[in-house]
Amino acid sequence: MHQTATPWSLSQAIQTFHVDRWGAEYFGVNEKGNVSVRPIGAEGAALDLDQIFQECRQRKLTLPVLIRFQDILRHRVCAVNRSFLAAIQEFSYQGQYRGVFPIKVNQMREVVEEIQEAGREFNFGLEAGSKPELFAALAVHDNNESLIICNGYKDREFIRIAMLGRKLNKKVIMVIEKPDELQRILEVSEEMGVEPLIGVRVRLQSKGAGKWALSGGEDAKFGLSTAELLECGEILKARNLVHCFQLLHFHVGSQVPDILTIKKAVREASRFYAKLYKMGFPLKYVDCGGGLGVDYDGSRTSSESSTNYTLNEYTRDVVYNIADICQEEDVPHPDIVSEGGRAIVAHHSVLLVETFGTIEKTKNIEIKAADEDHKLVKDMVFLIEKLNKRNRRESVHDALQIKQEAANRFELGLLDLPAKAKIETYFWHLVEDVVALYGGSRNIPEEVSELTSQLGDQFLCNFSVFQSLIDHWALGQLFPIMPIHRLCEAPSHDATLVDITCDSDGKINKFIDNQGIRDTIPLHAPNGNPYVLGFFLMGAYQDVMGDLHNLFGPVTEAHIFLDPDEPDGFYIEEVIPGYSIQQVLTDVQYESSQLARQMKAQIDAAIKANLLKPSEGMKLLDGYEQGLKQTTYLSFES
Ligand code: PLP
Repeated sequence: MHQTATPWSLSQAIQTFHVDRWGAEYFGVNEKGNVSVRPIGAEGAALDLDQIFQECRQRKLTLPVLIRFQDILRHRVCAVNRSFLAAIQEFSYQGQYRGVFPIKVNQMREVVEEIQEAGREFNFGLEAGSKPELFAALAVHDNNESLIICNGYKDREFIRIAMLGRKLNKKVIMVIEKPDELQRILEVSEEMGVEPLIGVRVRLQSKGAGKWALSGGEDAKFGLSTAELLECGEILKARNLVHCFQLLHFHVGSQVPDILTIKKAVREASRFYAKLYKMGFPLKYVDCGGGLGVDYDGSRTSSESSTNYTLNEYTRDVVYNIADICQEEDVPHPDIVSEGGRAIVAHHSVLLVETFGTIEKTKNIEIKAADEDHKLVKDMVFLIEKLNKRNRRESVHDALQIKQEAANRFELGLLDLPAKAKIETYFWHLVEDVVALYGGSRNIPEEVSELTSQLGDQFLCNFSVFQSLIDHWALGQLFPIMPIHRLCEAPSHDATLVDITCDSDGKINKFIDNQGIRDTIPLHAPNGNPYVLGFFLMGAYQDVMGDLHNLFGPVTEAHIFLDPDEPDGFYIEEVIPGYSIQQVLTDVQYESSQLARQMKAQIDAAIKANLLKPSEGMKLLDGYEQGLKQTTYLSFES
């Protein structure tokens, strides 16, 4: 859908894409009209995302490329830890903060190592929820003052590996998710001759809200009921192992949008802690799990893709409410553990995606009916000519009727293709004009808003929703998306985005907006130069949960570091190539040399049958073999 040209300014660009809201202190727009990135927050240097894209091109990295800002990761780790420390100081809290990063949120080694390094001064640890995660965490973990928390169901092997950590004097705490795990932990620890550190996940009454709310409440998949919790306590008492029972854990869900949910859950869990303490279980830690949300849509509300609280409000509420209950119950302050993952990693990665074409419903054409045109064409042109504010709704109804009648006649063989084409094209022009006549109105009739969402042009984008934006497809989660350049120009198209998978779900038609959610995103008309969109706040969950739909696979990554000595203020420290065609094929049990042999046999047969000259056949075979090493995504020599 084309927008009429209006005066445009950078501040309008900022408002249109809402970047001043979701960008936190990291993303904005610079005077060149490009997206700017401040990897160490508002006080630090600003990079130009378009320059980063240009550097990727120079290095012949084909988009999509996932840019990781390692400095943002470090900044987030410090921000979360410092916020807890400030709250602890403010409320004269007697315990310490011992946060952990749940590696399920992003298991990439470079991410986990960066977080470990940035968190060393805070004794920031790791959380693992599965055997593979624990194998990785145990090896990467290098600070015995920090914790390793083991969540998730556990078999003997899981426990054995955790106990290996205990043998190395690491504070590995196994959180019991299911009552029979305790018995297994006690058996394995006895066999290995080392005492376990035990935590218990408690099922709170308090339930979260939002897309990931099912992790909390009485029907949650994990955790113990109050009776089971006490049973475990009695078993430990009977074995003289009460001192091993160190941690009380709860988790009400990821991306908790409403601070009231957090407050309620913290108070309830603190009450559990206090009562257990008084029953003779002197626990050391209260673990508040994950849930610290990210304001993806910048609305600062309790909508599902946002939060109605800030990081500081969250940490103050956690610390204050634990302290408050401890005071009421007259028990010591426990050390506080939190497992916020999203809030640490979401901001650090941006996916750069190139658009490579548009499918437009309306084009700039002359609307006219000649004498010889079909009556339905003439009727449609008449509607367009007579359209005004008063008859706009009625005109839509009439146009819909004409379009339907045209479809019926075509089916019966009574309408030719040129007439059908004109009617459809003119119909969308009329809709575009009607939408303009409703511009800014609050009361847009249902049928008009339905057509408005269909009117958007489709921008073809070289990426896979299923690989890179899985939570958008599966859960409708909103991510900020905007062009990384040309922001000095007014956008001219309202568009939806479609990916390159052969799946009609491979599209994005929900975008963030000042007033909630919109069906289209304003974009610029192609001008022959690369037009790149940034998909922001992608660092949590998306990388690993993406799938191989249509065999596209993981995208190329570039890791960026700030460096004031570099001309553009940054350097690319590492490039991790995306999957090649042969790599994805290996994942589904094809072996590239076998494939090449099979192709050679067919080419040889074609040569024998005189379908190909030998030299041509060998050239084609070479092309096939070289192609196996290429990227799975489209590559444009732009
Ligand atoms: N801890 C546990 C037990 C979880 O299940 C999760 C994720 O659901 C997290 C921590 C991380 O949550 P978030 O990324 O919302 O902080």
